[in-house]
Amino acid sequence: MSLPTVDIKRGAERRLRKGHLWVYANELAVAPAKLEVEPGQLVALSLNKRAFGVGYINPGSLIAVRVLDRDPNAQIDEGWFIRRIEQAAALREGLVDPSYMRLLHGEADGIPGLVVDRFDQLLVAQSGTAGVDRCRPMIEAALKSLYPQSALLWRNQGPARALEGVDEQIEVAFGEVPERCAVSEHGRRFWFRPFVGQKTGWYYDQRENRQRIAALASGRRVLDVCSYLGGFAVSCAAAGAQSVLAVDGSAEALSALAENAAENGVSERIETLHGDAFSTLVGLFEQGQRFGLVIIDPPAFIKRRKDADQGVQAYRRLASLALRLVEPGGFLASFSCSHLFPRDGLVEALARAAMAGHRRATIVAELHAGSDHPVHPAMPETEYLKGLLARVEA
Ligand code: SAH
Repeated sequence: MSLPTVDIKRGAERRLRKGHLWVYANELAVAPAKLEVEPGQLVALSLNKRAFGVGYINPGSLIAVRVLDRDPNAQIDEGWFIRRIEQAAALREGLVDPSYMRLLHGEADGIPGLVVDRFDQLLVAQSGTAGVDRCRPMIEAALKSLYPQSALLWRNQGPARALEGVDEQIEVAFGEVPERCAVSEHGRRFWFRPFVGQKTGWYYDQRENRQRIAALASGRRVLDVCSYLGGFAVSCAAAGAQSVLAVDGSAEALSALAENAAENGVSERIETLHGDAFSTLVGLFEQGQRFGLVIIDPPAFIKRRKDADQGVQAYRRLASLALRLVEPGGFLASFSCSHLFPRDGLVEALARAAMAGHRRATIVAELHAGSDHPVHPAMPETEYLKGLLARVEA
C-alpha cells in the first residue's frame, strides 16, 4: 500500500539526521492544513526530495510528524511493532525485573507517543498521539502475540492528547483487568488501581531512586512530599526509618498508601497528611517539626514553555520550604519530572534555598529515571526525570 508523501523542509535536516524523531508543523514544505491527510495517518517522508522514512502525521498538532522508521521501505504493520517491542524488551534485559517494568518508553524505544508499563500479566498502555490511536489494532495484536496470557488496558489521558486534539479514553483492549493490581519492587509489594490511578497507575521511573534513598532512611525521621501511593514512604519505613510522614494532595492516593504500609508491615511508622505541599510544609516548619530525610517529588510544574516563569518559582519555593525542614546532617532529595526544568534548574533552586536559609547544602548524588526509561541521545525531551540528593548542614 503506498502512503501519501509529505515533504520536509531543509531546515529540519540537521536535527533529523542526528536522529531526532519530530518534525514541527512549520518544517513541512506544504502547510499541514493544506495536506489531504487525516490525523494520525501513516505517511512517507521526503527530505530535499529524497525519500527519508516513514512516520505518522497530525495536521492539527505543533509536532506535525513523528518518524517511525528511517527506512523509506519499512512496512508499518503488526510485525513491525512486534520487532520494536522485542527490541525494547531486549534492551532492558539484565537491567530491570522483566515482569515489572516500563516495557515501552515512547520515542526512546522507537515508537513515538506510546508508553506501556508491564505489571506481570497486566499491561497498561498510554497513547499520547492521534498516530498511536490509529495504530492501536496493530499494537494490540503485537502485544497479544508477545504476551498471550496478559490483559491490556489503555489509559489514554493526559495533557499531550489535548495538544493532539484527541479525546481521552480508558478502554480494556483484551483480557481481564483487575480493579486492584500489585506491583513488586525490591521485595516490597504495592497495590494500585489501574483504572483510576495516576498515569498508568504506578511510577516506575523512581524505582531505583526509591531503593537508593531508602538506604539512607534507617533511624531517621522521613518526610515524603508528593508521596502518591508511598513508593518512597513505604520503602523508607521498610528500610528502618524511625518514622515517615507522607504528604499528598490526593486523598485517594493516601488511603491507598495506608494499605501499602499495611501490606509491607510498616503501618505503625507511617502517617499520612492530606494537603497542598506548599502550605503543609509551611505548617510543619511552624510546628517545629524537623526531619533527617526529606523527599520532594512534585508533579511537572512546567508542562509548556509558557508556564516556565511560574513553574521556576514553584520549584524554587518548594526547595526552600523543604530545605528548612531538614535537620543538620540530614538529606534532601529533590526531583523535577519536567524536561523544561532541567537539572541545572534544580541546582539553582537548591543553591538559592541554601543561601536564603543560611544553610550549607552539598550535592552528593545525581539521580535519574531507571533503566526502563531509556533516553534517546538525540532527543533531550526523553530525559525528563532528574533529581539531586543533597546533604544539608546547619
Ligand atoms: N513520589 C511518587 C510520585 C509522585 S507523583 C512515587 O514515588 O510514586 C506527584 C504526586 O504529587 C501525585 O501523587 C499528586 O497527587 C501529588 N500532588 C500534585 N500536586 C500537589 C500539591 N500541590 N500538593 C501536594 N501533592 C500534590
